[in-house]
Amino acid sequence: SSLVTPDYLARLNPEQRAAVETLDGPLLVLAGAGTGKTRVLTTRFAHILMEGRARPWQVLAVTFTNKAAREMRERVAAILGQPAEGLWLGTFHALCARMLRRHAELVGLKSDFTILDTDDQNRVLKQITQDAGLDTKRWPLPGLMAIIQRWKDRGLTPERVTPAEDTDFANNRALEFYAYYQARLRQLNVVDFGDLLLLVTEILRTHPDVLAQYHRMFRYILVDEYQDTNLVQYLWLRLLAQREDPAERNICCVGDDDQSIYSWRGAEIENILRFEKDFPGAKIVRLESNYRSTSHILGAASGLIARNEGRLGKTLRPGRENNAGAKVQVASLWDSEEEARMVGERIEQARRDGQDLSEVAILVRAGFQTRSFEERLITIGIPYRVVGGAKFYERAEIRDAMAYFRATVQPADDLAFERIVNLPKRGLGDTAIREMQRLAREREVPLSIAASLLCESDAIRPRPRAALRELLEGFSRWRATLESEGHIVGASAILDESGYTEMWKQDKSPEAPGRLENLKELLRAMGDFPTMQAFLEHVALVMENDERAEGARVSLMTLHAAKGLEFEMVFLPGWEEGLFPHQRALDESGNKGLEEERRLAYVGITRAKQVAVISHAANRRIYGNWTSSIPSRFLDELPADHVERVGERQSARAPASVFSGQFGLSTRPARLVEAPAWEVQQRPARTGGMAVGQRVFHQKFGYGRVTAVDDDKLDIAFEKAGPKRVLDRFVEPA
Ligand code: ATP
Ligand code: MG
Repeated sequence: SSLVTPDYLARLNPEQRAAVETLDGPLLVLAGAGTGKTRVLTTRFAHILMEGRARPWQVLAVTFTNKAAREMRERVAAILGQPAEGLWLGTFHALCARMLRRHAELVGLKSDFTILDTDDQNRVLKQITQDAGLDTKRWPLPGLMAIIQRWKDRGLTPERVTPAEDTDFANNRALEFYAYYQARLRQLNVVDFGDLLLLVTEILRTHPDVLAQYHRMFRYILVDEYQDTNLVQYLWLRLLAQREDPAERNICCVGDDDQSIYSWRGAEIENILRFEKDFPGAKIVRLESNYRSTSHILGAASGLIARNEGRLGKTLRPGRENNAGAKVQVASLWDSEEEARMVGERIEQARRDGQDLSEVAILVRAGFQTRSFEERLITIGIPYRVVGGAKFYERAEIRDAMAYFRATVQPADDLAFERIVNLPKRGLGDTAIREMQRLAREREVPLSIAASLLCESDAIRPRPRAALRELLEGFSRWRATLESEGHIVGASAILDESGYTEMWKQDKSPEAPGRLENLKELLRAMGDFPTMQAFLEHVALVMENDERAEGARVSLMTLHAAKGLEFEMVFLPGWEEGLFPHQRALDESGNKGLEEERRLAYVGITRAKQVAVISHAANRRIYGNWTSSIPSRFLDELPADHVERVGERQSARAPASVFSGQFGLSTRPARLVEAPAWEVQQRPARTGGMAVGQRVFHQKFGYGRVTAVDDDKLDIAFEKAGPKRVLDRFVEPA
């Protein structure tokens, strides 16, 4: 190396530098959040190239997300001063997909194989189960697929599964089905997501020539977020890293056992321990200076994670002097609306103070929580994005549910009807659907009318006909329920009696519980409105709030999606027992689940550079009823020295009383002292239209001026939310 220290090395501390410059042999960097693990990995990549140790395509670099891969590519390019081409840099899945294309024929595929997305997979599965004669009534598919996925996560092809492992399901027929499923996918020239790692690992295991080829190619292997690798990923890495000459086993993994948060997807923290065994003589580097967060944030996070028992243990101290910063704030709010309002006010204030919104994040435990924050941000005109998922009202299950509601209230809504007519599956084949559409066109009637005509004819077979009749009867019954029992009872009847909720209850995929929570949240949101119609209009308004706004946005995401990221200002709402820690973790025996929740809390707090605001609501409304919730135990576990309680309720653990408590962060009194939301929103009917140029107030977007009038729609330039087209009934003169 040269005599002058290159700039990129000078920016590292001595331990980081050692990790970058120790190029030969296996290396494990084990260090807490924000200590520069990812920076080390990126710099190491550049250093390898600068030192001429390898060409860009001779380094294999694994990141946890595509976003992280992009960032690493950019950082390497910045250090090199030129774009880095032809890199083997990406997620496990992306890298394996590329490898599998090169060797597809070795596992009976053509190189143009298709990777199934979830929808395709369900279609293919249906076909395969039919062919296999599997009784899916008795043996629901989701459970079966979960077993298969677990086998794949452990690198087990059907041939490698032992009969002893085939005991859970369908009279020990899961293995038989697995073998059949795999064979059929090969015939169709398709793979599912789990196959990518499984098949490549199998190729490397059974084709020494192929493995040798990669051994020659990959001189260096770099792995980020190592603590969250599962077994098959580990096997894949180990195969690639175990070159013949132990001195050439240049694998560098960076990770933090305290940030292992994916055990529910098969991640095995033991992989960290296994590393030293599989790579004898591995060097271990520890980084202890945190460069990300102020010392109060760090102190709070460290104190919390210290409660976990199964830890490798490490020190974490501030990387800079005099960087105490503000204490971590803990805010107690009345309910989730109040919580969303507090967060919104804080963000508005920060924006006024010049805060870049791309440095602001709201991190939630469960996806459904984004709803109240999204609505609040729309109201006050703060642009946002939902990272790693869809916006609340754009999620598939929410769109499905809304389609049910619309089809109930507005029988002529063909789009809605079409979306749910065979969802869940009611045995309506393509023929029946085509026949219905044809009839609708021919008679010029809505699909729902065509459907009832079909029920009277024998154009379709008896079974689908009966199913259709049942659905149509459902619609008239649900309309009556909406009338007599109100929209909330009506809505839950629709979702339950249609079989829609049940469909997700049967689904054993990891996403299904989250979808059910979203549906509950939808019913909760409905409680803010007097009727179904008003709610449907409200959602139309929210959806209308499109993405034209450019520039910086607040990020909303789950804690899981936030791993590896950092922000100036982080909000951590919903710290309540049952929500965070999540009920599923509390229901588990032992404390494994709870400890993983605590690691998730640690990940959350350590995303913050300057400001961390944790909050909890004392009440949640469920189906129109209020229930009080208990503050998360994690709040009590935060070391007092680093925490400032703002807006403390008098008796945080006692059932909340409407009139007690102070809400330091909010200028308003407790929510229930006000009139219920819908009373506020029901304003006297307007007389006379709005004129262009008039100043108006809109319930969601605030003040603005009318720029155009089009029947019942107004174009308004809102002072905060920008230009929008809205329905005039939500607007009144200001
Ligand atoms: P996580 O565990 O959350 O993934 P990490 O260990 O990967 O964190 P990085 O994201 O690499 O940490 O670094 C955290 C922050 O500290 C980044 O903004 C990074 O640029 C900065 N940083 C890292 N090392 C140094 C250093 N030696 N001097 C100044 N800043 C540093
Ligand atoms: Mg990192």
